[in-house]
Amino acid sequence: MAAFDAAVSVAGPDDLRLAAHQYNQLLHLLASADRASFPAAAARRVFAHMLEAGAAPSEATITSLARVVASDPDGADEAFQLVATMHSTYGLAPRLRSYSPVLSAFRHTGDPSKAYAVEAHMAASAITPEEPELAALLEVSAKAGDADKVYEYMHKLRRAVGCVTNDTAEALEGWFRSETAGLAGKAEWDARQVKDAVVANGGGCHQLGWLRSGPWMVRRVKVGADGGCGGCGCRLASVDIDMEETHTFADSVSGLALERETKANFSQFQEWLEANKQYEAIVDGANIALYQQNFAEGGFSLVQLDAVVTELRDRYNGKWPLVILHNKRVAKLMENSNNRHLIETWRANGALYTSPSGSNDDWYWLYAAIGLNCLLVTNDEMRDHIFELLGSSSFFYKWKQRHRVKYTFNKGKAVLIMPPPYSSEIQESETGSWHVPIEEKSGDERARTWLCIDRAGVTKRPHESRIANGVAQGLTPSEASNGAGQRQPEDQAAPVTGKRKDRD
Ligand SMILES: [Zn+2]
Repeated sequence: MAAFDAAVSVAGPDDLRLAAHQYNQLLHLLASADRASFPAAAARRVFAHMLEAGAAPSEATITSLARVVASDPDGADEAFQLVATMHSTYGLAPRLRSYSPVLSAFRHTGDPSKAYAVEAHMAASAITPEEPELAALLEVSAKAGDADKVYEYMHKLRRAVGCVTNDTAEALEGWFRSETAGLAGKAEWDARQVKDAVVANGGGCHQLGWLRSGPWMVRRVKVGADGGCGGCGCRLASVDIDMEETHTFADSVSGLALERETKANFSQFQEWLEANKQYEAIVDGANIALYQQNFAEGGFSLVQLDAVVTELRDRYNGKWPLVILHNKRVAKLMENSNNRHLIETWRANGALYTSPSGSNDDWYWLYAAIGLNCLLVTNDEMRDHIFELLGSSSFFYKWKQRHRVKYTFNKGKAVLIMPPPYSSEIQESETGSWHVPIEEKSGDERARTWLCIDRAGVTKRPHESRIANGVAQGLTPSEASNGAGQRQPEDQAAPVTGKRKDRD
């Protein structure tokens, strides 16, 4: 600033030719300056000079300026004004980073209506808030005692992040320990409706508002390997994509497959699948049979495939999985009498679907696993071209986490690596408690700290029978998540199919 001021004092704006990027650099420097040096006044001066000199401001210019101004004790409104008018005044589109300092300023001034106005402006500019912005909105609404808004932001946060930073966790603790939080909630609700909502949402929340009332107990706890909460003792859910997303996903896969595959063949498969929905697991036959077969005598190992099928049947009380194999492979295998016997056994038990000539069997096993909402056994990372076509579906990663079973072999026996028993993401249970995972830098899931948030002194809850959580996974009871993070009732031993469909 001394250099800038010296230059300005000896030359008028017409003589001093600074390029736009030089103004931007100055503003950027000021934006990171210590607040004690009152950088806002200097930044306003630089910006005025920039306009006078006819240098065109960019989004970075306004964002830096807004950031400096927002750090001024009374600068929040001015900063919002700058960002809110950057499009109308300069034709510049604000970015998330433009809004962030403004929200942070209103967080400090504790001005909820202005913070909500910023959020509304962001929405109008098609900017989605991320964790720092949501934490600001959460804290502002919490301090104002606006329970409905806090609830709304809890769910926005749940959708936006997996684990939260310590800063966000502290904002949450602040809210739940407040008197207003204790008063928020309803004493009665329709337990069936809440359960159905949890199922429809994929197991991790109901979104029907605060349940019960009374002060909350907020604890920092660890979670066991099976998903058992070290605080309230409930079992955390393994959260799936919701039902609507599952349908959209299945539709987009079949849409793509029908464009690329012989239409009649794929339609026939869809019809067949519609009539044969009993499977708990789909097996990517070629992936397993070719696993580690790139040695001299290697080939297509039906033995490996058989080992996986056997292991799956052991887990599911003898129930057969569905193996998808290309018909060319099957024709070749049938030439060998040992193989023929095995393949005939699979066929007789409905455990084999052969994809037709000219098809790409990837479409078949992927569609089957999504359509039946069940497990998929493959080591395929699903990154090649057909999955790139699905790239825009943000839920693909989540779906894969929840449904894909990897495998390896140990002395000829298949070892299945099941999806994690619970999800490290914000969860709202059907009894109204919350669990929030906090960022864990070590990457060790067992070391992760969670916030366990439940109403204090609750001894009696509405009687509820255990439900399947609506996520597709036919795990054994010990592996299954109960979906709703509820306490383990007496009927713990009752089998949980976990399949999201009617089992009546
Ligand atoms: Zn808990």
